[in-house]
Amino acid sequence: MDQLCFDDALAIEGGVLELSRPPAGLDPQVALAAFATAQAAAGGFETAMDRAGRRIPCANVLTLSTSPRCSVRPVAEGLHVIFVPIGVAARLHAASRVLLRYWGKERRVRVHQSPIDPSRWDPRGVPPQLRPLLLEYDEPGEFWRGLAALEASVEPSAADADAQELTHLGLQFLLAHEFAHILHGHFELLERAEREDLGLTRLELLRGVEADADSTAAALSMLLLNDAVVAALARQEAAQFELGWLRLSYAVTMLFGVSDAQRRHFGAYRDCEYSHPAVRGELASRAAYESIGSHGREAWQIQDREGFTRCVRAFDDLLLDSMDGRFGKLEVGVESLAVHNMHHGMSLMGPTQKFIFDGLQSAMADRERVRALLPLFARRRKGAKRD
Ligand SMILES: [Zn+2]
Repeated sequence: MDQLCFDDALAIEGGVLELSRPPAGLDPQVALAAFATAQAAAGGFETAMDRAGRRIPCANVLTLSTSPRCSVRPVAEGLHVIFVPIGVAARLHAASRVLLRYWGKERRVRVHQSPIDPSRWDPRGVPPQLRPLLLEYDEPGEFWRGLAALEASVEPSAADADAQELTHLGLQFLLAHEFAHILHGHFELLERAEREDLGLTRLELLRGVEADADSTAAALSMLLLNDAVVAALARQEAAQFELGWLRLSYAVTMLFGVSDAQRRHFGAYRDCEYSHPAVRGELASRAAYESIGSHGREAWQIQDREGFTRCVRAFDDLLLDSMDGRFGKLEVGVESLAVHNMHHGMSLMGPTQKFIFDGLQSAMADRERVRALLPLFARRRKGAKRD
């Protein structure tokens, strides 16, 4: 397949964001922080490539797009480029601030909406003020005005510093997901599948590739976070692994919680390359656990459980407030839509819990089938046998 040149790919992705000319409605601090995250992640990815013994020319670029999704592609110049819409960072920042205002004031009411029953998609079912968090926009001005109004509705507080950290960790996770596609050779694998029979259907391959990218993103996020804590401690700055882990868990739960607003039920993910976001969150949690040494695992689990629980409680409060009309009224006759994806079951044995458990098992199986085909893992397997 012919590759686009960098400039053409960039134009398709919305053009470059110039920090000196941010779009009206975007907080310049959010743009600056996103730039710093992208820079720091690029440095971390260099280290990851060194550790993997695999150097691949890659770059990341912040674009003007308001999309909620990052993307990656090889371009004709021989580079792999990760495109990071500034809309992603701005949405994460607003979501963090909106959710953190419930911290310490959680009502602890579980709002049970079944993700197993098919739900009908209607963008009018999203409360008007929350639309810039959840919907995609054709008109950038409308998106930025809506997001600025939502940001302005949250009183500034001490939690804003935490919101910045959550935005950083969420964005870093998404960048790491795209980088994993590069590092693990997913593009080469998909190309190989065009020429030869690899024993997997196209859908199985894509599902395995995405599960591998999510797992790797979790492991890389853990690595980058831990390296940042070690570096801060070396500078004699205040930093704690536990607080970092709590934030990482909250940030990952949050970003999967607000993803893919139009598809809330499990059935919608049967024939698509991704698992349901609740399953993706579980997979990330498991992969982060497996990526750290046994001495840190118990402490991670405690923070992970806390971060997940606090984020889900905030989502439930957000949903309660949405149903109460706090984020704007819906048109008469329009059914309200769940504002998040994290509808875990009411009991450990509940049907939702079983769907998540089964989904996690099959995502891990998909990932392992793809890893068995990837040269990077073949080298690791050989290395493991030698030791
Ligand atoms: Zn992906």
